[in-house]
Amino acid sequence: MTSVPRIALNSGHRIPQLGFGVFQIPPAEAEEAVTSALELGYRHIDTAAIYGNEDGVGAAIAHSGIPREELFVTTKLWNDKQAGDAPHDAIRASLEKLGLQYVDLYLTHWPTPEKDTFSHAWEKLIEIRDAGLSRSIGVSNHLPEHLDRIVKDTGVTPAVDQIELHPAHQQSDVLAWASEHGMHIESWGPLGQGKYPLFETPAVAEAAASHEVSPAQVVLRWNLQRGIIVFPKSSHRERMAQNLDVFGFELTADEVSRIDALDPGDGSGRVGGHPLEVN
Ligand code: NAD
Repeated sequence: MTSVPRIALNSGHRIPQLGFGVFQIPPAEAEEAVTSALELGYRHIDTAAIYGNEDGVGAAIAHSGIPREELFVTTKLWNDKQAGDAPHDAIRASLEKLGLQYVDLYLTHWPTPEKDTFSHAWEKLIEIRDAGLSRSIGVSNHLPEHLDRIVKDTGVTPAVDQIELHPAHQQSDVLAWASEHGMHIESWGPLGQGKYPLFETPAVAEAAASHEVSPAQVVLRWNLQRGIIVFPKSSHRERMAQNLDVFGFELTADEVSRIDALDPGDGSGRVGGHPLEVN
């Protein structure tokens, strides 16, 4: 079975660098998809309260018989639960659905800057960590200005920032912040969510041909070689297996830099919501 490297987070806990994401997997299909993923060897699952499938994830975990300490489970606090004590109620509701005593990583899903509650939410996540309900805590979709603010307000640096990251949208400013502060980056939408012709791009297609792997495997490998944590989503077992099978080849420095060069540099490669506009 594939052995996925684990990366040490600033909490001291270790995260498998490759996992399985379950965004847009319907609740009724989540148990089957996660069961397949666990059978194939995935040990890191990325879900969120808003995905509506935490109970399917939990059922798959319960039926798997895999010891809890071998698994790494992430879930996220939705945007309308940032104020007051709502984060405490939200993590308890997520744990109930997941059938777990704790998650490995709990994230603030978006900064929603208009509401200006993200820093308060971060204080609540610190309490949640201290209460033992999440081993590590982090954020998602936070820009350097949001990261600066929460660190200034609390003195606590997130373990990760989970951001949209693929060859056409690389967010080098967030990556620079992360390396300066000892935070890790998780990539969401690593395959561009299939929304642009990434796999046909010569830099990707030619590397795939040269290593006799698929373009998706090249893009995942590019993330891994840059130290980024990644959890592609697929409902198809063959693709799940393929996405996990990315440790038997290595891109050359030239192949990596050709893919690095695919970001237009003006933010136009974004395929999801803008962190300043999701409120
Ligand atoms: P992704 O880039 O992983 O794309 C998924 C799509 O790529 C699939 O639906 C499938 O069509 C295609 N695909 C997958 N494997 C393939 C293969 N081997 N060959 C060809 N096509 C393949 O997009 P995603 O699911 O949005 O992102 C991954 C995970 O990131 C999510 O499941 C979720 O856990 C997380 N996420 C987080 C946020 C956030 O705001 N924090 C937002 C979106 C996603």
